[in-house]
Amino acid sequence: MPNAYWKDKDSYRSQPRPYGWKAIRERIIARDGGVCQMPQDSQGITRCGRPGNQVDHIVPVFMAKSQQELERLEQDDNLWLLCVSCHRRKTSSEAGKESQRRRPKRRREPERHPGLID
Ligand SMILES: [Zn+2]
Repeated sequence: MPNAYWKDKDSYRSQPRPYGWKAIRERIIARDGGVCQMPQDSQGITRCGRPGNQVDHIVPVFMAKSQQELERLEQDDNLWLLCVSCHRRKTSSEAGKESQRRRPKRRREPERHPGLID
């Protein structure tokens, strides 16, 4: 008999979270004092400081090129607390970077069409 409870429990999840995410999230919120850590100047001295509840990867996990790198990006030192507006701004700029990354770079000159070779 199929277990509908688990099926329903997973259906609302829009993106996969690492195992134990809830505990990780609570740990990061406590570590960062419940306030947004987004730097407001180039030295990172001033932080946003607004109340935050968005635990975010500083280096986004889609940047990982290997399993080892992915595991490193899941560590606490790559997580920080952001407020909703900083998180939204960061996510939208990352989405732009990701689309750039996915676009293949053309390093070589385009090859001539075989039909044009004399
Ligand atoms: Zn903020």
